[in-house]
Amino acid sequence: MHELSLSSAIVNTVAKHAEGRRVTVVELRVGTLRQVIPDTLEFYFEFVARGTLCEGARLKQEVIDARLRCNGCGHEWEIEIPAFRCPECAGGDVEIASGNEFEVEAIEVEEAQCIGQR
Ligand SMILES: [Zn+2]
Repeated sequence: MHELSLSSAIVNTVAKHAEGRRVTVVELRVGTLRQVIPDTLEFYFEFVARGTLCEGARLKQEVIDARLRCNGCGHEWEIEIPAFRCPECAGGDVEIASGNEFEVEAIEVEEAQCIGQR
């Protein structure tokens, strides 16, 4: 279950940026080539987030389609099963243009509370 280690990575990254504030929303960009199952990731995120600043935070996942780009003619296309040849010019010099994303796009945190005023 690589979703578990990905969840730990998210929580660690977010905790660094939250600087002690409680996190309410975490926005993620996940490329389809990462083969992450959104429900599974959400489950593990909740689990890993317990007892951290991310506890109770909502995980928003934006799925990024896999696209290839031909370095010969610049043509870009979406793929379902990787076929590393350009359908436009039949060139084989192609690179992955998107689909490999796994990054925290943004987080939302609560405003700092004054200590002793609860
Ligand atoms: Zn091409």
